Amino acid sequence: MTKETHFSIAPATGEQIWSGESGDVESAVSRARRAWPGWAALALANRIELLRRFANEVRKGADEFAELIARETGKPLWEARTEVDAVIAKVDISVGAYAERTGKKKMDSALQGSAALRHKPHGVMAVLGPYNFPAHLPNGHMVPALIAGNCVIFKPSEKTPAVGEKLVEYLHKAGVPEDAVQLLIGGPNEGKDLVAHQGIDGVLFTGSAQTGIAINRRLAANPGKIVALEMGGNNPIVVKDTPKISDAAALIVQSAFTTAGQRCTAARRLIVLEDVHDALMEEVLALTKRLVVDEPFADPQPFMGPVIDNETADRLSESFIAFVTAGGKPLAHLRRPSAELPFLSPGIIDTTNIEDRPDIELFGPILQVIRVPDFDTAIAEANNTRFGLSASLIGGSPDDYGRFWANIRAGIINWNRPTNGASSSAPFGGIGLSGNHRPAAYYAADYCAYPVASTEMEQPRANIGIGLAD
Ligand code: NAD
Repeated sequence: MTKETHFSIAPATGEQIWSGESGDVESAVSRARRAWPGWAALALANRIELLRRFANEVRKGADEFAELIARETGKPLWEARTEVDAVIAKVDISVGAYAERTGKKKMDSALQGSAALRHKPHGVMAVLGPYNFPAHLPNGHMVPALIAGNCVIFKPSEKTPAVGEKLVEYLHKAGVPEDAVQLLIGGPNEGKDLVAHQGIDGVLFTGSAQTGIAINRRLAANPGKIVALEMGGNNPIVVKDTPKISDAAALIVQSAFTTAGQRCTAARRLIVLEDVHDALMEEVLALTKRLVVDEPFADPQPFMGPVIDNETADRLSESFIAFVTAGGKPLAHLRRPSAELPFLSPGIIDTTNIEDRPDIELFGPILQVIRVPDFDTAIAEANNTRFGLSASLIGGSPDDYGRFWANIRAGIINWNRPTNGASSSAPFGGIGLSGNHRPAAYYAADYCAYPVASTEMEQPRANIGIGLAD
């Protein structure tokens, strides 16, 4: 098969920063299969030690790594640094999660022998990553998978191969065997071949719902393969009465526009009760106008950078225009200062009067505003989506929050906190089109190993007490 050359373009400058050839799925899988028994047989303490060394390698290279993340994704340097911190912190969190979620348990019983619960790794796992957190999110699958004793073949997003390559380099530098964790460069085609390969025991995916569904379909006839799907959202942020309007506005802006809206947990729909609407929107619009959009290394640091590429910026601009055409009222226009680069100013549009609002994820800095007369309508509107990743209530009383929490369908439900910025120490996942009930982060341990129940005795001891002929 002829190899395709892939390129990585820095969104903020249009420069090519990396090129490389697509990987060979067949050879990666056979190398991983050969490496697996040895890696799985290594004592847990040794695997943990290697992962701790990996954290140290990343720590040593933190500045360089953050710069690469910022350059390849376009996100501000300050934000890329927080991504590097999350990569480092993942190791300790995963060690704790492995012990707590998938540890060993022995229950002695003199007559029946002892009962034991232990966990085994699945085998060779395919990890498919998105571009918005090109290090932290695949790392969130890879570290727990490796600790549990799986081998990993990691295919980074075709938009962020350089960060993917660097991540695997740190693992190898730390001493994780080259065949136990491998990089596979490529796009959707390599992803499809990897997912469908007989030698893969599981697929750990973070990306769009569309791709997640395609993977699920592809593996429908293979119920024996573990599939963890972390997908997108159409997340609501609901605002009820609050005396703290400017804090509410800050939470909304943070939820909608951090990472230029390229977070799976970003607020896409601001659902606001009529009685707070005017005061709130005045603050939200004033704050939005002040957001600095600039290249990742600008001084002073911007709030947000460009979106990932020109095609994405074009699609988002078209979606904004489609809202306007359908009767939406723009409150802050989504502007594109240069046709050559994917910088977008944050866009806010009132879509209350659009009857059939499309329930899709617009992965960028676009916030819809939907006005509602009362709290029940707000909850119904918040649930008016096939996704179910994150949701926040701003304002209201403890009783209101209790009602919100009880009725909202989502895997992350917050009160007076943004929809994004979830903790790695908690499970992270959604329902509906947002996931398949295999949450990541703290619960990633669960899908990286399977439980084995045993009853055990040192010597055989048995007799048949009933139903025997003389
Ligand atoms: P994407 O679905 O386009 O791609 C993700 C990965 O899947 C890439 O590596 C891609 O090459 C690969 N791929 C594409 N088609 C494939 C196929 N048919 N078979 C196998 N692999 C295939 O996602 P993206 O655009 O890179 O990332 C943005 C999306 O990720 C958004 O929808 C966002 O909400 C979602 N996301 C979800 C989470 C979460 O944890 N729930 C976190 C971050 C991003």
